[in-house]
Amino acid sequence: KKKHFVAQKVKLFRASDPLLSVLMWGINHSAYAFWLEVVYVHILVGLFDCILRVKVVLHAININRELWCFVPWVKAEINELSHVQIPIMLMPDDFKAYSKIKVDNHLFNKENMPSHFKFKEYCPLVFRNLRERFSIDDQDFQNSLTRSAPLVSEAQGRSGARFHTSYDKRYVIKTISSEDVAEMHNILKKYHQYIVECHGTTLLPQFLGMYRLTVDGDETYMIVTRNVFSHRLSVYKKYDLKGSTVAREASDKEKAKELPTYKDNDFINDGQKIYIDEESKKTFLDKLRKDVEFLALLKLMDYSLLVGIHDVERAEQEEVESEDNEGEEEGESDGGIIGTPPDSPSNTLDSAKPLSPGDFDPSIDVYAIKSHDNSPRKEVYFMAVIDILQHYDAKKKAAHAAKTVKHGAGAEISTVNPEQYSKRFYDFITTILP
Ligand code: AMP
Ligand code: AMP
Repeated sequence: KKKHFVAQKVKLFRASDPLLSVLMWGINHSAYAFWLEVVYVHILVGLFDCILRVKVVLHAININRELWCFVPWVKAEINELSHVQIPIMLMPDDFKAYSKIKVDNHLFNKENMPSHFKFKEYCPLVFRNLRERFSIDDQDFQNSLTRSAPLVSEAQGRSGARFHTSYDKRYVIKTISSEDVAEMHNILKKYHQYIVECHGTTLLPQFLGMYRLTVDGDETYMIVTRNVFSHRLSVYKKYDLKGSTVAREASDKEKAKELPTYKDNDFINDGQKIYIDEESKKTFLDKLRKDVEFLALLKLMDYSLLVGIHDVERAEQEEVESEDNEGEEEGESDGGIIGTPPDSPSNTLDSAKPLSPGDFDPSIDVYAIKSHDNSPRKEVYFMAVIDILQHYDAKKKAAHAAKTVKHGAGAEISTVNPEQYSKRFYDFITTILP
């Protein structure tokens, strides 16, 4: 009971991995830093005389920023202002900006946090604006990532990148390389413009935040995107499709996993079908065509369509079985999390009305599409584009270096270009939708 009280008052950021604690701390802090800025401006307008003094005082206690919330009037101001929609006008510099904080001798909450760490948030205002455009409430976003530790996911990225999902499974946290961070900076302005133009309706990854965490001198880059899959409907089969058939099969090692990522050839050999109606298909393909045209324009390639299938009957069956087992396997949750349990099981509208099997809230599970009425099984599909940060030039350079080592300088490079990639990708996806 005491733990519950503490978790509500002071966030502990308890996680199995210190890196995750730092991520939780940083995201919590960054939201706070934003509101402090707003408070500054508020004061600037209201009490012009005081502004300098207040700023000096706040900077003086910079090291313990997370404790500012205990200053009663700062807390009151923030509580009051955070209900107000703050319009953000993005300036060109915002696409290069960052906020950085270095914490030394962190005295508070020592059992969970390393005592020295750094946290850098890239382009905070741009990502804040993107979250708004993707209809993600900032407070909800922050809660999803800080109330309880993110869960380890067994999915693996290109170079063994690590994956986590937020404890409520709404967001995916991916460890990326510094090249990916550089590429994000390269595309961010155009990506933002694209999101503005399509009003947030896209199958491209929804980039929601990008961070650098430094612990023990090691730098780790992370990017947060919306989960393609549902936060509550389980997926029993998933595919990663590229429209290429060369070496596009899941390895035996992959197949041994609980939820393997199958590939193009597996999809064909399984005789897999996606049963959606004409209208959903048209909407989906329209979005996909625009999205891949945009990616080709940016010279990006090697992205995938991530496909997940939820089988309604099967999930119901599994639920009954897990209820039967409940007594025996007490409280065992997946992924080895030691996080504080969420204060309440739901933070938004899940509690408002219970959903029946196979139902979803389209404002949360934005990629979900229901199978049509004549489908042999009642299913829900989740489909979206992932892994878009591979640039043609970077790829060519890498391939060239590898080939030069193997075959000497001047060897032919036989990779398709981004334009060809996008066409082949799109054509393949049209064939999997009957
Ligand atoms: P750093 O934050 O210095 O660790 O950056 C990691 C990578 O992202 C580096 O390769 C930088 O080139 C790139 N990067 C960081 N900030 C920017 C920026 N404002 N504009 C362009 N590239 C950036
Ligand atoms: P990637 O390195 O981006 O190709 O991702 C590797 C694997 O991680 C994919 O095959 C998916 O299983 C999973 N994954 C990546 N991004 C997402 C996402 N946004 N939502 C759900 N799963 C994802």
